[in-house]
Amino acid sequence: MKINRNIYLGLIFLMVGTSFVVSSCTSESEVVIEKKPLREVTIITDKSDEWKFGNQAYKHADNIVGFGPRPAQSKALEKTRQYIQSELEKRSWSVKRQSFVADTSFGKYQFVNLIARYVPEGKDLNTVWRSEHRGVVGAHIDTKKIPGLNYVGAVDAAGSVGQLIEMADFMGKHAPSMAAEIELVFFDGEEALGKNMFYKSAGKDGLYGSHYYALNRNRKREFGIILDLLGQKNQKVKVPSDSPAFLYKDLMEIAGRHGVSENFGKASFPILDDHVPLSIFGTPSIDIIAEFSSDDGWWHQKGDTMDQLSVEQLGVSLRVAIDLVATQLEK
Ligand SMILES: [Zn+2]
Repeated sequence: MKINRNIYLGLIFLMVGTSFVVSSCTSESEVVIEKKPLREVTIITDKSDEWKFGNQAYKHADNIVGFGPRPAQSKALEKTRQYIQSELEKRSWSVKRQSFVADTSFGKYQFVNLIARYVPEGKDLNTVWRSEHRGVVGAHIDTKKIPGLNYVGAVDAAGSVGQLIEMADFMGKHAPSMAAEIELVFFDGEEALGKNMFYKSAGKDGLYGSHYYALNRNRKREFGIILDLLGQKNQKVKVPSDSPAFLYKDLMEIAGRHGVSENFGKASFPILDDHVPLSIFGTPSIDIIAEFSSDDGWWHQKGDTMDQLSVEQLGVSLRVAIDLVATQLEK
């Protein structure tokens, strides 16, 4: 890092010097565009990681989709949880279940989030679970129950769940001290049980898991990152308009460093997703979510199957997400 910082400072000096020379030779009517140097972001991934990220995330998504539709309280959702737990435990992450019953407009519902912490070599589980952590990264495991449809939610959000398992894999192997600073959460009950999601002081439908987690594991972390609807073959990441400025800035700088900034940006509106309860309860959180629309043929429609997912797009967006986590932890 020290070497990078020196190079970076050198670059600033060069650029300031250059812009001074350019300004001094131009007439007043000419517009001088000063190139700002890139702020230092922490890149721990490599271009060569993308294929493995995408390929492995795709395989996890395929296995999860293979369990069938996984709405709240379904057997397929429980199989999904067991799959995630076993994949994480193989990679030295400890998993806890956070079960609760919520009163909904459709009666009492049982939900179960999975929470995971990295177990560094030689550390016992009690110490791991008691230790502080600085960030939370999550994705939702349930699918929307759509009457009359065998809706398996490959993009929404098996791909993002697969990415989170691979993030755990990569961080544990290549950045274990960073892995120990984050908590991973696999949220149940993101989807509304009725037609539309809403989240108000007067009541809610959807975001059951993230609301319960934020309310009951109420530690204020420095940052939260949610992955949702990632890996679709025409992916354009558009984060909510009200994303925390520091996370959005770093996201865009990392996307620029990876040469994919044209596929990343901000929506012109807020989006209701699992980052909302986290932010409300004190952890500033960003939702790395790609564009979706009821006209796209897959979002909450029968077309949301494995052929919508792209290994390449899963890989690219996971790489950006991992480097965003690393950048926050390097601060
Ligand atoms: Zn959905």
